[in-house]
Amino acid sequence: MERLQKIMAQAGVASRRKCEEFILAGRVKVNGIVVRELGFKADPLNDEIEVDGKIIARERPVYFLLNKPIGYITSVTDPQGRKTVLDLMNRVQERIYPVGRLDYDTSGLLLLTNDGEFANHIMHPRHELDKVYEAVVKGRMEERALARLRQGVMLEDGMTAPAEAVRLRYQEKEGTSVIQLTIHEGRNRQVRRMCEAVGHPVVKLKRIRLAFLTLDGVPEGKYRPLTGEEVARLT
Ligand code: URA
Repeated sequence: MERLQKIMAQAGVASRRKCEEFILAGRVKVNGIVVRELGFKADPLNDEIEVDGKIIARERPVYFLLNKPIGYITSVTDPQGRKTVLDLMNRVQERIYPVGRLDYDTSGLLLLTNDGEFANHIMHPRHELDKVYEAVVKGRMEERALARLRQGVMLEDGMTAPAEAVRLRYQEKEGTSVIQLTIHEGRNRQVRRMCEAVGHPVVKLKRIRLAFLTLDGVPEGKYRPLTGEEVARLT
């Protein structure tokens, strides 16, 4: 049994706070009866919960870690008909969606879930989860550029927060550097724009870690469920 507002938030109705307002406003029914108490508990799998006359989904929450290859769009459908990350997961029955985004041409660690509250929690900048990227960039990235990445660089949408940046190696033959960048925000194409801003456009980008989660044991194009312990540690 779980609190009504928690079940609603998990089903993606709205934030827990907003769901509480819906309950107080008499917009929520359990098994056909209006419930206005915030302490009310229901069984998410067996009770019928209605918000504004619409029954909310009653799926069990599921959580997956995918090793996304390049060439897949991070969305549930694509109007242009490109392959989506869900095409890699068609054995999953639940209506999952990606938590955050990786670009079409970025590979690596992506979480997917049907738990709206979990997804909001992970994406909220307040929680400052480490997002670690390995990037191959043009040219020899020197300490000066790395220091700028660490301090924050000015992008169109403002300064970036302090990041960690290290050069792993310089690839003489290709004229590229391999760097590791840890950020805590999740702006659109952020790593690409940061590297570009310090004069080193990205050639290849992979997310290798999110908080304590890595790609260990998950080959490219494959996925695994998160353990209950992992889910608990993330929330
Ligand atoms: N930063 C980017 O530039 N692209 C991604 O896909 C993720 C982070």
